[in-house]
Amino acid sequence: MALRLYNTLSGRVEEFHPLEGNLVRIYTCGPTVYNYGHIGNYRTFVFQDILRRHLKYRGYKVMQVMNLTDVEDKIIREARAAGLPIREFTQKYIDAFNVDRKLLNLEDVEFLVRATDHIADMVGLVQTLEQKNFAYASDGSIYFRVEAFPEYGKLSKINLSGNRAGARVDADEYEKADARDFVLWKAAKPDEDSWDTPLGRGRPGWHLECSVMAMKYLGPTLDIHSGGTDLIFPHHENEIAQSEAATGKPFARFWIHGEHLVVNGQKMSKSLGNFYTLRDLIGQGFKPSAIRYLLAAVPYRKPLNFTFEGLEQAEQSLERLRNFRQRLTAEKFPPGSNPGLAERAQIARKGFEEGLDDNLNTAEALAAVFELVREGNTAMDRGEFREAERPAYLDVLARWNRIFAVIDDEDYAKLRQYGFAGGMSTAPSPGAASTDGRKPTGLLVEAISEDEIERRVSERERARHSGRYAEADRIRNELLGAGVIIEDTKAGTRWKRK
Ligand SMILES: [Zn+2]
Repeated sequence: MALRLYNTLSGRVEEFHPLEGNLVRIYTCGPTVYNYGHIGNYRTFVFQDILRRHLKYRGYKVMQVMNLTDVEDKIIREARAAGLPIREFTQKYIDAFNVDRKLLNLEDVEFLVRATDHIADMVGLVQTLEQKNFAYASDGSIYFRVEAFPEYGKLSKINLSGNRAGARVDADEYEKADARDFVLWKAAKPDEDSWDTPLGRGRPGWHLECSVMAMKYLGPTLDIHSGGTDLIFPHHENEIAQSEAATGKPFARFWIHGEHLVVNGQKMSKSLGNFYTLRDLIGQGFKPSAIRYLLAAVPYRKPLNFTFEGLEQAEQSLERLRNFRQRLTAEKFPPGSNPGLAERAQIARKGFEEGLDDNLNTAEALAAVFELVREGNTAMDRGEFREAERPAYLDVLARWNRIFAVIDDEDYAKLRQYGFAGGMSTAPSPGAASTDGRKPTGLLVEAISEDEIERRVSERERARHSGRYAEADRIRNELLGAGVIIEDTKAGTRWKRK
């Protein structure tokens, strides 16, 4: 069966085939780099990573562009508050994003590009639109004339024809001929970063940058354009209008949108105190691999309800997978084969592949593999597992992991590599909730004192004796991350530094 994806443009699930041979051209709207990425952002980026990896798994070559929005109103405001030029201000958050991507095992995209490196290209697109009479100037700014593009609204299915006068559709402070029109180029304002261009002194509008960077690297027609559902209108609608008006060609064939993440059923917001960056969760001792697992586990078109219980379950699920692989790697099995078990491996592989082909149904793909874990463990416990089945089982896990990318326990090594354990600030972001999660110990402890080790070892003992094994394991792992090895012996628990 071919890969099927839900296309927002057609409103249907469609079979996906690239326009040209084996190559899939993808554009994904990237982060606005004025803060650390929050888990809602990363939900979208993880789903896009699963999409990318699954396309590759199915034999396609992927060419993906992701933009870094490094000029817009909020950035200008925040940079000014910080007393920095915007390039310098945003660099810090671009660096942080690059580290976050590594922590979450997001594959490198082919082109990760900054908006401010493409000002000349943006000017070019605006000039084309002016020549074709799709754009007009007003008070030094330049607007897209929506009336000139009758297909406007085809993605969002929003009918704005009643909105011509009065209503503000895309709020900004400039004069427009029609309320639906949106800004392509903003006239310079005092004290704001701006560029001297043939269009006059000013800066690009946000919608413009995505059209320009997409077409520059991928050509006029993309196979897939993706982002969160909040971008459908007006952002993606405007991207279509600008691009198609300029080229006369379809801009993107498939529009794939990921649903929101909510926290305990509520919208994540700083004012509600339930706002988490990736770094907040790492600071509370959660593993990036478990965070990735949780973000990937819910199919992308369903809202994801983030809870700390869910995150702890994700850690436990991951442990189960890792333990199973450990058994497959290390245990001795009787020689020979067990045809029933060999068949189970084939069913699991088919199950996860077909789940992902079905509009990236990650829940089904997970279920298929956990069924294999359950059956495999049972067979091993009963002494029914046979040596001949080992490679097939390991192969299913390895294939599954090419897409989910969570089985290898690389968290501690990466956190050390990227300086988290070496004194990098782990203060929670302003407004981050501190009551729900764990104490900010765990992964980030570096030079842990003997007193603290003794205290944690005792906590672990208590957890073990009252049957809270997951917690006991977590403490052991946290201490391991801090370079402390726990050994359970007949004489009691001992610890040593690595
Ligand atoms: Zn965009």
